[in-house]
Amino acid sequence: MKNLPYFCRGEVVRGFGRGSKELGILTANFTDSVVELLPGDISTGIYYGWACVDTGDIHKMVMSIGCNPYYNNAKKSMETHVIHTFKEDFYGQILSVVLVGYIRPERSYDSLDALIAAINNDIEEAKRELDLPEHLKLKKDNFFRASASSSMTSSNKITKDL
Ligand code: ADP
Ligand code: MG
Repeated sequence: MKNLPYFCRGEVVRGFGRGSKELGILTANFTDSVVELLPGDISTGIYYGWACVDTGDIHKMVMSIGCNPYYNNAKKSMETHVIHTFKEDFYGQILSVVLVGYIRPERSYDSLDALIAAINNDIEEAKRELDLPEHLKLKKDNFFRASASSSMTSSNKITKDL
């Protein structure tokens, strides 16, 4: 996809509270302002990339962009599952992410088990892809070391600006 990598950051807000209860997979939701800045040519679907909470360590992540067909949501959301076990929630903190690659389109599933299996496959694919040298180098991007309170919330040109 030609618009990748795509960098963005913003506050983590409460979502539908479904991640932990039904899926066993926590997904951190961005505020609407971050979702609204997404360029139209970043299509809905599942992506992999790197993520960091405030000034913490940089971890692998998978992100779902879209309306969650399984749940039939009306509003578009960006939900990040960070592939790391955190000690605490990070609502209200600043999440910085870079979308590195596209995994698959969004689709609906016949059962919750099928949805969970698909997400676990996505996580495995993200882990493998992000170990490739060309993807590992984005982990070192200055974007992650820029102030987490930076007013810039989104860009796919930030590496050139810094
Ligand atoms: P919500 O519907 O509010 O998004 P979830 O059950 O999906 O609720 O939980 C997401 C929240 O869990 C995040 O906002 C974050 O504060 C916390 N969290 C803890 N660990 C993770 C993780 N590894 N990935 C994503 N969110 C996490
Ligand atoms: Mg969630």
